[in-house]
Amino acid sequence: MARDFLAAKDVLAAKLFFLTVASMERDFKLDAEKHAMSVQPEEACGLVVDGAYVPCRNIALDPTADFAINPVDYARAMLSGSIEAVVHSHPEGTPVSDLDRRACTQTKIPWYVYCVPQKQWLTIEPF
Ligand SMILES: [Zn+2]
Repeated sequence: MARDFLAAKDVLAAKLFFLTVASMERDFKLDAEKHAMSVQPEEACGLVVDGAYVPCRNIALDPTADFAINPVDYARAMLSGSIEAVVHSHPEGTPVSDLDRRACTQTKIPWYVYCVPQKQWLTIEPF
């Protein structure tokens, strides 16, 4: 009896977990899209920490063509939770570059790129 109850509770917990993950993904993307719009024509950058978007300052020499996450922002994100992904925007909608792919592989976590003109998300997986 107790075991059946636990099993039902586990199924419910699993369902809630999937619903939460699905809605979190939508939320971080919405927040990242707003950030990307607000810093145009510069590239926006941020991190997904425990499912939520954490905007970071872009300290690249030419932030309209590249991004570099402010190390203080990165350290703060690292201390606040688990960094799950790197996010940045392409204000001109350019495709993912080789540099993006190589850097993604170095970080060992997925990268999400928001192409502003197309309002389209690209995902890069490390390999
Ligand atoms: Zn890029």
